[in-house]
Amino acid sequence: ETPRKPRGRQFFANPGPTNIPDSVLLATAHQTVDFNDPNFLEVYDSCVAGLKQVLRTEHEVFLYTGSGHAAWEATLVNLLSPGETVLILESGYFSDSWAQMAQDLGLEVRMVAADWRRGVDLGAVRAALADDTAQAIRAVCVVHNETATGMTIPLPEVRAALDAAGHPALLLSDTISSLGSLDYRMDEWGIDACVGGSQKGLMLPTGMSFTGVSAKAMQAHQSSRLPKHYFNWTKMLGRRHRSFVGTVPTSFFYGLQESLRLMLREEGLEQVIARHARLARAVRAAVQHWSGNDGPQLFCLNPARYSDSVTAVLMPEGHDADALRAMALQRFNLSLGGGLGPLGGKVFRIGHLGDLNEPMILGTLATVELAMRVAGVPHAPGGVDAALATLA
Ligand code: PLP
Repeated sequence: ETPRKPRGRQFFANPGPTNIPDSVLLATAHQTVDFNDPNFLEVYDSCVAGLKQVLRTEHEVFLYTGSGHAAWEATLVNLLSPGETVLILESGYFSDSWAQMAQDLGLEVRMVAADWRRGVDLGAVRAALADDTAQAIRAVCVVHNETATGMTIPLPEVRAALDAAGHPALLLSDTISSLGSLDYRMDEWGIDACVGGSQKGLMLPTGMSFTGVSAKAMQAHQSSRLPKHYFNWTKMLGRRHRSFVGTVPTSFFYGLQESLRLMLREEGLEQVIARHARLARAVRAAVQHWSGNDGPQLFCLNPARYSDSVTAVLMPEGHDADALRAMALQRFNLSLGGGLGPLGGKVFRIGHLGDLNEPMILGTLATVELAMRVAGVPHAPGGVDAALATLA
């Protein structure tokens, strides 16, 4: 079939990158300025302060030009030394990718293995910490919101496991698909380093990422020996911007200033989080309804861990998620997320984070239902009604 020329606005329902509000897009289209210009420095400083409010931290935040992977790498190389051990709690594709990176950087990786549909068992985390009588584990790495499976891991419970074991390891969290969408409290939850990126809840283009760093982690940084240059936090501290070894991506900051205004002042962080919870419930209601008649199901099997920023939907046996996605894109201009790693073709993902409201999510759900009808994917019709019932 020849692709139809898309008409109307593309419904972009990926779990990151996400929709960019018009006012953020316009703010980003700023003429180049000297990054040491006092007017820019004012914008820059207010952005860093705003970012700390979203992270709920009073500690240092280091920023990099690079996607989330850059912040992952920066965090590991600034805190650890060759051959040191990290404990990674398995959640899905992204925990495994972070583990692979750690291994490639010369770290010793221990995994707490988990079923991707349920996420890590905290009893197994406690056992792994208790077994580590020599305290070889230097850092525990957790993906707060596993974007590949649509599951949130309770960070305060991981903190409690470390505290109960009296284990001194640093607690590192990936907040890439949770920050600015789900409740996140770096200082209150005792997080030592958290990794974030621009293209999800912060509603910006891809290309900037950052790490929030506790005082304890800054201490650990002093003795870390993994090679680093562009990512070196000590180098960054010597610069006016306390970040960016190299040119500062000024345009991003005009966009960030606007997205922070929208989140912190216009809507309010509490309301942002409540909106994500509300829209996520509607998505899950639709999927749970569709699952009748041997239809698709929620991939996540642990209701306490349902993610409010992304839902992974498991296709019925014998039906290809990528074929459904391709058709939804070609015929209806709806872009859905695909399954990652071993979930390729088995799941599709509905991103419901960032700049999103009821009409947008209902449009997405109605179009998914339409696509399933056209493609002959079994499902119980009426998922949109089920979503409406949660929103009314
Ligand atoms: N961690 C999580 C939870 C993610 O969702 C992603 C990307 O989607 C990454 C890490 C990697 O970030 P990036 O693709 O921006 O490098």
